[in-house]
Amino acid sequence: MPSEPSVSAPRDFIRQRIVADRDSGAHGGRLVTRFPPEPNGYLHIGHAKSICLNFGVAEEFDGQCFLRFDDTNPVREDETFVHAIRKDVAWLGFDWQDRLTHASDYFPRLHACALELIGKGLAYVDHLNADEIRAHRGTLTEPGRESPYRNRSVEENLTLFERMRAGEFAEGECVLRARIDMAAPNINLRDPTLYRIRKVAHQRTGEQWCIYPMYDYAHTLSDAFEGITHSLCTLEFEDHRPLYEWFLDNLSLPHRPQQIEFSRLNLAFTVTSKRKLAQLVSLGIVNGWDDPRMPTLAGMRRRGYPPAALRDFVGRVGVTKKENTIEMGVLENSVREYLNVHAQRRLAVLRPLKVVLTNWPEGHTEQVSLPNHPGDDSHGERTLTFGRELYIEADDFMENPPGKFHRLRPGGEVRLRGAYIIRCDEIVRDGSGEISELRCSYDPDTRSGGSGAARKVKGTIHWVHGADAVAVEFRLYDRLFATADPDRGGDYLENLNPESLLTLTTSLAEPSLAELAPGETIQLERTGYFTRDSVDGATALVFNRTVTLRDSWAKLEAQQLSEATGR
Ligand code: ATP
Ligand code: MG
Repeated sequence: MPSEPSVSAPRDFIRQRIVADRDSGAHGGRLVTRFPPEPNGYLHIGHAKSICLNFGVAEEFDGQCFLRFDDTNPVREDETFVHAIRKDVAWLGFDWQDRLTHASDYFPRLHACALELIGKGLAYVDHLNADEIRAHRGTLTEPGRESPYRNRSVEENLTLFERMRAGEFAEGECVLRARIDMAAPNINLRDPTLYRIRKVAHQRTGEQWCIYPMYDYAHTLSDAFEGITHSLCTLEFEDHRPLYEWFLDNLSLPHRPQQIEFSRLNLAFTVTSKRKLAQLVSLGIVNGWDDPRMPTLAGMRRRGYPPAALRDFVGRVGVTKKENTIEMGVLENSVREYLNVHAQRRLAVLRPLKVVLTNWPEGHTEQVSLPNHPGDDSHGERTLTFGRELYIEADDFMENPPGKFHRLRPGGEVRLRGAYIIRCDEIVRDGSGEISELRCSYDPDTRSGGSGAARKVKGTIHWVHGADAVAVEFRLYDRLFATADPDRGGDYLENLNPESLLTLTTSLAEPSLAELAPGETIQLERTGYFTRDSVDGATALVFNRTVTLRDSWAKLEAQQLSEATGR
């Protein structure tokens, strides 16, 4: 008898909170979230956590999620980032439908709210300059001091604020501040700035405004305007929550959202500050925001990370209030597990070593079939040509190997994947003494799948056929930083990994690699997962190594056994 589906408990404290709010009828049973990036850089893996959380809970609980551009600082922001962010969120698999907004959409309403605060005696125009404001702010142990402009009349403040807006003051000459409490233990409540003057054109509102709202103010009010029920943000905003609530308490707003904080996602060997990522780009340390070594979503896409693997990774990391750093291996495992199931198999040799089968008739070729996926017949199979001149991986031959080496050695035998057992008879060297070619003989009775295939050898290696192999470029990526915590010791730029990219330009692949579209990912058997580069691969056969196979050896052994017994 089928059992009742089990009702699983919510996965994390935020989902528990959402369920509790739904059950108690808070927010009229609605759930509305938002992902609020500032368009001053590309999204990174940390943002993926926030995106999956905000859009994810909206999907799970039949709610809605806004993609809101927090475009309140025209100096740092740019339309190209807006496009990149939209592309990345969509690529991750989320749909904001008609809920794409900008803080700048609300500039008129934000301005009206500022007038309301001034009218209530809760905001004032301050002529102290930035340094003076800082000096007046006090410290964690000392209260702040009140500005001499703090007790201006409402009328004077209204007039001055209108003059600010009209452009009558220079940048930095004055600001609008909330009038809260200069002695508050929480520094965020010591009369925070609400508006500053920036005589810069805004990418959306042009020259319409020369006063721009500060983040805390614009963000809280945007949440209220959009009817956000759960404003999910990272822990550094915990100390800002009293200010968030002060705005909600003191303005007549259509709705009261609640802010809930969770810990940021930190990845080992990675920096995720946008400022630092921007610096890596501007210094030319990487080739743009979408360099496959970057922890940006655009970089990971170009490297071949599937969006489903990133969602899986974020799910494994979970949502808590505890700060921690996740191992790169966790992310790579999510990628590997997904690709192991979905990527088709191909053959290529990274560092080719020529093999000539001396007893193979000149001009003769045979067709061998290989499954495109060992565990899933629906991927079908493909046919490769096999002949007298082949290339194997240089690493698969050793002249003086250690005992356990099951690949090719002088006088030793190995199976060529899907084809015959060969024996190495002779090493040919070039003028400098380097091995340039192996002369081998094949055993005609050992064709894979054939009647004589039951003869066993310990090793199976991959190969390509010389006459129809295609020349490809493989880019092998390693971690961008050499230390797990690149920020430790001050300058993260000192901790770069000098070998984060190794480009191989003499590799050879089976012909079908030429048919892969940019962005397509395959597994090169025994080697790793590779994706045709979406930029340089558009016109040339350039492939990025997505991730190594690492823990595939156990599977390979099994594969070799089944190979030897005729599959
Ligand atoms: P910066 O690096 O400039 O401080 P940021 O990373 O906070 O910026 P935003 O564009 O403000 O960038 O971030 C948008 C949202 O993504 C915010 O809600 C923020 O809390 C969240 N977010 C940013 N970084 C992470 C991270 N590492 N883990 C989880 N969420 C993050
Ligand atoms: Mg931020």
